[in-house]
Amino acid sequence: MKNSKWICGFLIATSCMANAAAPDPTALEILQKSVSFQTSVGSQQTAAYAAWLRDTLLAAGFAATDMQIEPQFEGAAATATFTARWPGRDASKKPLLLIGHMDVVTAKREDWVRDPFTATVDGPYLYGRGVKDNKFDISMMVATLLKLKRAGFVPSRDIILALTGDEETTGKGAHRLAERYRHAELVLNGDSGGGKLDNDTGAPVSYGIQGGEKTYVDFTLSISDPGGHSARPTATNAIYKLSNALVRLEAHRFAVQSNELTQGYFRATAPVTPGPVGEFMRRYVANPGDAEAVEGLARQPEIVGLLRTTCVTTQVAGGHAPNALPQRATANVNCRIFPGTTIASVQQTLQQVLAEPGITITHDASVTKEAPASPLRKDVMDAVAKAVHARFPKLPIVPTMSPGATDGRDYRALGVPVYGVSGLFIRPADDFAHGLNERVPLDSIEPAVAFWESLVRDLSR
Ligand SMILES: [Zn+2]
Repeated sequence: MKNSKWICGFLIATSCMANAAAPDPTALEILQKSVSFQTSVGSQQTAAYAAWLRDTLLAAGFAATDMQIEPQFEGAAATATFTARWPGRDASKKPLLLIGHMDVVTAKREDWVRDPFTATVDGPYLYGRGVKDNKFDISMMVATLLKLKRAGFVPSRDIILALTGDEETTGKGAHRLAERYRHAELVLNGDSGGGKLDNDTGAPVSYGIQGGEKTYVDFTLSISDPGGHSARPTATNAIYKLSNALVRLEAHRFAVQSNELTQGYFRATAPVTPGPVGEFMRRYVANPGDAEAVEGLARQPEIVGLLRTTCVTTQVAGGHAPNALPQRATANVNCRIFPGTTIASVQQTLQQVLAEPGITITHDASVTKEAPASPLRKDVMDAVAKAVHARFPKLPIVPTMSPGATDGRDYRALGVPVYGVSGLFIRPADDFAHGLNERVPLDSIEPAVAFWESLVRDLSR
């Protein structure tokens, strides 16, 4: 890189584009380099990763003044956000945002077969922490921007790459960036959605576009009691009270709800789902009030979240000594709330269902956020279908709603539509995101760049 600049500066200064001689790194090289930065919490390499991304874009002709690395937190938790703006021709058009996260889940070297922070090619796979979540799509986005820039493409609207460094932990970076870009036309999120391949045959099954996320809330249930000596049991016991209340919660079912995303999901998935589950899907689409179909679908752990708000007890604690009546008993109830339903209304329902006088229900409002589902806009659906069908004609495009949250939630909470559109096609059996030996198929890389290029071209016109 240094040599080429020297040549530019001294030999052919007048005709030299700042960087014409330096080849861009390939998408594979970008992904491998990305994995080499240890961006798990505590490792403090996120700013260095952002600097490398900035330099890579700089070398392709992006302006230094259009890129920002902003440090976030101090000490061991130090991380950063990175933004890069590609100015469009028409300042009156609202920007297209490309979002993702640079941080990764912690990986212990001793648990992995290979060094998690050295991207390793082994057989048909590339291994490494973050190689899928979320460095795959970040790398594909950057490779796409480089490719479009070299090709002389000029977007009509601004394209803004906005990457966080704390998605897996505090999520505060997304909050800040969403506030800044709340005027965006729409957001493409590389951290969800994507193509599904058949586990056995590797044939494409469907492409999922994520248009909504359930609201994640941890409620703390707490009951206190005067307690006393365990040799003299009283009529009131905090642990029994809490236990009985939790049994009532276990039996409770929140009301069935549906939206454009879940209806679209079941409609598209029913024909390719064999057996009774496919039949229940078909019946549910025809009649959301079909109780038997709902019951049949609700028995499937991967489907129940698409039918209703769910709340489940995940932790309990109580008592302070083996020979004392408990003075306190607490439980954590984790809820995944259907978009459009408020946290307050779920809290109210819990209060009624638990039916235990004296129980308190609280949650940390600073970490929870309600966000609506995004409308399935025709321009976005058309662009996604075109990008997918260029490779796999007629493949079903399936709207999805995630049970958990990504950075997209902060934008949706401000009314900006967000679409999860990972460029990765993968077999569920190959998906080890967050787990050991995370990997992606090598042959998924080039098609993902083509996918992103098609999408970015179409949606930045
Ligand atoms: Zn992620």
